[in-house]
Amino acid sequence: MVTIKNRVVVPLEGAETPPEFITFNGLVEEHVAIVFPQLKPGNMPPLVRVHSECLTGDTFGSLLCDCGPQLHEALSCFSREGGVLLYLRQEGRGIGLYAKLSAYALQKKGLDTFEANRHLNLPEDARSFEPAAQMLKALDVNNIRLLTNNPDKASQLEEYGIGIESIIPTGVYLNPSNRRYLEAKVRHKKHTIPL
Ligand SMILES: [Zn+2]
Repeated sequence: MVTIKNRVVVPLEGAETPPEFITFNGLVEEHVAIVFPQLKPGNMPPLVRVHSECLTGDTFGSLLCDCGPQLHEALSCFSREGGVLLYLRQEGRGIGLYAKLSAYALQKKGLDTFEANRHLNLPEDARSFEPAAQMLKALDVNNIRLLTNNPDKASQLEEYGIGIESIIPTGVYLNPSNRRYLEAKVRHKKHTIPL
């Protein structure tokens, strides 16, 4: 059973109303929920983004993926109207930072992101979104509007008991360096990215 451990307000640059960072008991990894207060009146279920950690993209602005812009899109949207960002410590779709960087080296030789993982004898995608569902339940959020273009996130959350009222696609953040990566996500994982 996952329960709330602690809540602390952390003011963020650019966020008018500071969110709460929430930690949990019962998770294997140190996932965190960042909860922005609801600013728009109404009975709509909260907007939620399930974001897997990407050190290179989130922190350093790597152009090899679209994680950084997707994270910042969610943060600015939630700071305007409220929402819940579930930040999962699943670097490299769950394989870890070093393996992700090794996979990048293989991608320079022509493999795509999923083929590179297989070449390293690692799963294409090692993520489970069960912790995200557990965190939402601990927050007493059982129905959501999900910000994603990854159909697997929506179906896993539903499987783990979260109602999805609607799916709101994220923006498309294409650049010359991440085109092959985005194409591979569409080809292998049916991401809804109009390229
Ligand atoms: Zn990334």
